[in-house]
Amino acid sequence: MSRYTAAACKLCRREGKKLLLKGDRCYTNKCSLERRSYAPGQHGQGRSKRSEYGLQLRAKQQARRYYGIRESQFHKYFLMAEKMDGITGENLLMLCELRLDNVVYTLGWADSRTQARQLVNHGHFTVNGQKVDVPSYLVKAGDEIGIRDKSRQNENIKALLEKNQARPVSEWLKRDSSGTKATVSTLPTREQITVPVEEHLIVEYYSK
Ligand code: SF4
Repeated sequence: MSRYTAAACKLCRREGKKLLLKGDRCYTNKCSLERRSYAPGQHGQGRSKRSEYGLQLRAKQQARRYYGIRESQFHKYFLMAEKMDGITGENLLMLCELRLDNVVYTLGWADSRTQARQLVNHGHFTVNGQKVDVPSYLVKAGDEIGIRDKSRQNENIKALLEKNQARPVSEWLKRDSSGTKATVSTLPTREQITVPVEEHLIVEYYSK
């Protein structure tokens, strides 16, 4: 199934939450959710009472859309999370956080996760010195993530680095003073993950 890319703002309006899919625009008053905080479509402004299943479905869709992950991949992460020690919902979000595209975005090397995915696909980053161009690549504690030497001369990357160098980085990632390398110092805890979702609802959704 192809990735849904059209009208990203409609996804936020559908979920009633900022999913930060459009980079800079999300932090300005041009954000569609700020201006039209109701669901898109003819019945978007009608009142709707959600069933238990509806709440679980929306929680799952919110997380998936926040990270830009396809249904099949997201379900695979759930199955992996179930087999891990600890709380399944937290494990699931941790796996999403550890994706290389999310790490690139979190480090401020891209304006959005969508852009991060594209930059990873174009082969601009390394993990432990090796080029990795797979957005779903899962990093581990201790891994060193970097921008390739050649890519540091890329005008687009240089502009992104300059613009986002002041953006705070999650505590589980440590960016070096050059801003072009970082280490995964620990695995992210739930408190360090900012996705606006109740993960227990996702677990209930998949456990039916
Ligand atoms: Fe969502 Fe960003 Fe669009 Fe606002 S501008 S609705 S946060 S994608």
